[in-house]
Formats: sequence, structure tokens, C-alpha cells
Amino acid sequence: MVAPLPISDRYKIETTQLDLPPRVLLGPGPANVHPRVLSALSIPPVGHLDPTFLALMDEVRDLLRYAWQTDNELTIAVSGTGSAAMEATLANVVEPEDIVLVGVKGYFGHRLVEMASRYGADVRKITKPWGEVFSLEEIKTALETHRPKVLAIVHAETSTGACQPLEGLGELCRQYDCLLLVDTVTSLGGVPLYIDEWGIDLAYSCSQKGLGCPPGASPFTMSPRAIDKLKNRAKPPANWYLDMSLLTKYWGEERVYHHTAPINMNYGIREALRLVAEEGLAQRWQRHRTNAELLWAGLAELKLTCHVDKNYRLPTLTTVRIPDGVDGKAVSRQLLNEYNIEIAGGLGELGGKVWRIGLMGYNSRRENVILLLSALEKVLNS
Ligand SMILES: *Cc1c(COP(=O)(O)O)cnc(C)c1O
Repeated sequence: MVAPLPISDRYKIETTQLDLPPRVLLGPGPANVHPRVLSALSIPPVGHLDPTFLALMDEVRDLLRYAWQTDNELTIAVSGTGSAAMEATLANVVEPEDIVLVGVKGYFGHRLVEMASRYGADVRKITKPWGEVFSLEEIKTALETHRPKVLAIVHAETSTGACQPLEGLGELCRQYDCLLLVDTVTSLGGVPLYIDEWGIDLAYSCSQKGLGCPPGASPFTMSPRAIDKLKNRAKPPANWYLDMSLLTKYWGEERVYHHTAPINMNYGIREALRLVAEEGLAQRWQRHRTNAELLWAGLAELKLTCHVDKNYRLPTLTTVRIPDGVDGKAVSRQLLNEYNIEIAGGLGELGGKVWRIGLMGYNSRRENVILLLSALEKVLNS
């Protein structure tokens, strides 16, 4: 074929076949992927309206219901990362001028504020120092003062390593006639969590933290109370891609094309959720707890201090104070370069003050704890 116009070679670049180091991902995510999930990802894609794929979507929904302990009909995997599912919760229930109360005690609380304000919410904040959690009393007072339509709060603050207790919040929110929206990104699959029992109306998560899958398909669930608010909106959500009234026509009975689902990501999250069900939630939560305690004990032996009070410490993500005189970034760099271990530094208020160590999903294993502790000891003493 003769090209009608000259083609420039200056766009050509030299590349090599991908050959990446075998990292052990012990930071705040992504975490390493279970081998069974990796092999599911490489299954050839079928069409997004193929009957076999539609059946698989139903399985993803049912497996998610188990992982989250919910009867919610509207439980799906959003096509996108955790932030997409996060945005989906707010986009669907927030109407302009709605008062949204956000409990901010870390980086992701701030993101909720930012997103809610983009949908025109009248955002009110309550705050806590990074590493602390709210008491039920404090939240009750704020509900009384602000009378919000939605209370949004992060269960597992990945930026601080603190776990917000959620028991009793659902009842409070019903008392004040407001919806309870919870970020469960770093808790799903690793920390006790009961959507229905705790009266959570909207929740989202991601695939690459507690579920041991690559990023790209993100759990989302919405209670009948939240669906009522969506149905009674004056105007449709300002976000077409994440509009649940459209998406449920694809995930529900009608199977109307909305967007092309990332087929292989759904294979991946299905296998990751099958692994959750096979292991059993109670066993999985216990495994995360046991390995986190092993890590905490080892850190104490190295004379390192955890930033969060043990009562609120997350098993999936531990923040460790960087000792005076130690270059935190240099330590992380050395762990990566010499031991292939990734950990992370702090964000925001905790920038430069802590390391963040994740033991999530497939990565929450004894051998990873031992590997990290011994590498950390060598690096700190070098
Ligand atoms: C990672 C994370 C998110 C965002 O998820 P992405 O997959 O990075 O988009 C939101 N909330 C919390 C608590 C997180 O840890």
C-alpha cells in the first residue's frame, strides 16, 4: 500500500520486552496479586454481553455480597479504581446544596470533601489529628449541629493506619435521617466489616488492596434507602459514567449496553473474591490480625514505635514513626533497591514522619513479615 502522506520515523521509540523486578509490595497498595488471580486475568476475553459474561457478573455481585455481608441488590464492580467507586457513591446521592458531613482524620477524608464539593454539596467537616478516630459522641454532636443528608467517613484510613469504629453509626444516622457512606478501601477483605449489620448505606472499595487483584474493578454497594434518594433526585447525577440508574440496567435484568466492562478485570476480581469465600471471612480477618501482630512485635524489638494506639490500629496498614536522625526516604529506597521490598512514606500531616507498611490480602503472610523485619533491621544498622 502506498501511504498518501509521508510517515515520520521520529515517533518511533526503542523499547524492550517488559522485564520488571519481582517486588514485594508492602506499601499502601497495590499489593501483590494471588497467582490464581493472575492466571484468571489471562483467560481470553468474551464479549461484554455474552451470556457467559453476564453470568460471571452475577457471580461477582454475589461474591461481593458475601465479602461485604450485605443483601444489597445494587452491589457491583465499578469499572475503574477505588476513586471511581468513591466518586460513584457521592455522584449518585449528593444533590446540589445537600449538606454532607465528612469526618476527616486523614488524606482520604480530604478527598471525600473535595469530591462532594464538586457535586455541589454544602460540605461540613469534623476533624481529628491524623492517627486518631472519632467517638460516637463526637459524631452524634456533629449530626445534631449540621443535620446532614449524608455522613461520609473512612473506615480504614490508609494515610494514618487508624481504623474508625463503625458500630452504632448506622442507628445514629437513621435517628438523624441521613445516609451513612463509608470508605472500605483498605478494610474489605482484611478487617471485620458488616455492611447490613452496621447500617451502612453506601460503600466502596478497590481490587488492589485487601483483595489481592490488580487495580481496575472496584466494589460498590448501595442500600435501598440510598436508592430511594437516587430515585427522588430532581436531576440525574452530573456524572454519566457512574450514574447507577444507567449502570443497573447493565448489571441488572435488562442488560442494556452502557460501557464496555473491562472483561479481564472482572475475571480477576471474581477469582480474588472466590479466594475470600474459600478462606472464609473469619479466617481471613484472623490471618490479617495475626500477621499484623507479628509485625508489631518485631517492630517493637527493633525499638520502633507504631503511630496509632493499639486499640485502633489497622491490621492491613501500619504507620511506623521514623526515629530521629534517620532518613526515612533513604531507608525506603534501600529496601527497594537492595531487597525488592516496597514500603511507603507518610502523606500530609504525617509526611516525613512515618513509614507505611501494608500487609494486605495475599501479602498478609508470615514469610513477608519476617522478610521485611530482617531487611529493615539490616538497613537500619548499616
Ligand atoms: C487507595 C485508597 C483510595 C483510592 O483508591 P484508588 O484505587 O487509588 O483510586 C480511597 N480511599 C482509601 C482509604 C484508599 O486507601
